[in-house]
Amino acid sequence: MMYAINRCRVTNVIMSNVRSMHLLKEKAFVNGKWSAAENQQTFDVYNPANGKVVGSVPDMDVSDANLAIKAASEAFETWKLTTAKERSKLLRKWFDLLEANAEGIAEIMTAESGKPLTEAKGEVVYGNAFIEWFSEEARRINGEIIPSPVATRKILVEKFPIGVVGLITPWNFPHAMITRKAGAALAAGCTCVIKPAEDTPLTALAICQLAHEAGFPEGVLNVITCDRKNAPDIGKLLCTSPNVAGISFTGSTYVGKLLNQQCAPHIKRVGLELGGNAPFIIFDSANIDKAVQGALASKFRNCGQTCVSANRFLVQENVYDEFVNKFTEEIKKMSIGDGVNPGVNVGPLINEMQFNKVYTMVEDAKKLGATIKTGGQPIENLGKLFYTPTVITNVSASMQVYNEEVFGPVATIIKFQSEEEVLKVANNTERGLAGYFYSQDISQIFRVSKLLEVGMVGINEGLISTVEAPFGGIKESGIGREGSHYGIDEYTYIKYMCVGNLG
Ligand code: ADP
Repeated sequence: MMYAINRCRVTNVIMSNVRSMHLLKEKAFVNGKWSAAENQQTFDVYNPANGKVVGSVPDMDVSDANLAIKAASEAFETWKLTTAKERSKLLRKWFDLLEANAEGIAEIMTAESGKPLTEAKGEVVYGNAFIEWFSEEARRINGEIIPSPVATRKILVEKFPIGVVGLITPWNFPHAMITRKAGAALAAGCTCVIKPAEDTPLTALAICQLAHEAGFPEGVLNVITCDRKNAPDIGKLLCTSPNVAGISFTGSTYVGKLLNQQCAPHIKRVGLELGGNAPFIIFDSANIDKAVQGALASKFRNCGQTCVSANRFLVQENVYDEFVNKFTEEIKKMSIGDGVNPGVNVGPLINEMQFNKVYTMVEDAKKLGATIKTGGQPIENLGKLFYTPTVITNVSASMQVYNEEVFGPVATIIKFQSEEEVLKVANNTERGLAGYFYSQDISQIFRVSKLLEVGMVGINEGLISTVEAPFGGIKESGIGREGSHYGIDEYTYIKYMCVGNLG
């Protein structure tokens, strides 16, 4: 059997569903008001499963962005003076509203991102949890009193919000990438200008509506929408404006480097969560059935479009055949289709650019002699953006799939002999976000955890993201950490106060 192609259509789920109706906003949110672009331009948002227009939002430019920065700047003057408890209570209220509207948010997310509804619901749980977490953390941004070397002095250390922050987010987690940043920023006492991805602005506006209902003061949280063509100018403005204290970006390495360069002359605070190239290593001692389950979850979530997705499966020779066979059989059982259909676990790719990238990489591998164990082609009769979950073996270093992040439902499997060899392969990349390995050998577990050059390690686990743990990478995968108690540090600065001449 080759994949379950899921055709049943639940049409127009968004438009007909009251749960999501009041969350479906077609205006941006600036200074506490739903706003059109000054130039009145708009752009359409498409459902990647069927190409239909889901909504239309303002195509803002730098003049709108300037207004949002001004509003955030003015709001900061009072927001920074609020007590931790006041901020905590507002964040909690926002969280409660996000929870109450979880279904509606998930429906909007599936309609604009294509991710299966069950995954969208999972992201809403995950995304909401950041607001809950930071509502709690807001009250624990503690200072310190450090013993002074001089008897008549006191050394006090306190943390303060850095100011207005620009948050630029991607389409692959349209909700959680916003709440992970905005939750921490608001808890710290910063105000925000959020620029969501052009593919998925509706989820951003939906959660913004709930922040509005929660009662955040005007200008504290602003969402500006724009199409791809205006993103560079708005990005540049956020990086260079003297009224913006810092940038937090999740997205491609290319854009991350550009933003970093633009911020450098202004010595801005920069947080970057960029691309990964995660190795997923299966050692001889691994529990293969658990490794297969972990591999499926890590690789095919969101159709392989997550930066922590396993990108290279490296399997030790004694268990290679068993892993490849079991993994391939499981992949063949996957159900592909429009994410609103029950049972679908692989949806479409987000857009044509992403689809073409995946298509080209697999064709390149085929041409250079790789073996396609399963998949390896588009599913045109489902829609333009559907690609079969694919397993590729006999991969060589000259192939694109070996060197680059696929960001699609394509698993590349490579055989290795020794631990030393596999660590060289795993670390031979400029990226260092996540890495995974399966082993039952306790010494190997600690050895390999230490030697993998990544910011996050999954040991006998394929899904490791949680609000309590610090998310982030090393090398070209980024700067800073999000979530956890470390996440607040990105939005605060430390002030040392020396109180002298005490009697
Ligand atoms: P992807 O290629 O996966 O879409 P990007 O890094 O291009 O990832 O996009 C992530 C976010 O960055 C989106 O919100 C997008 O609009 C924004 N973006 C794209 N180019 C720029 C840029 N030059 N400056 C600022 N933001 C940008």
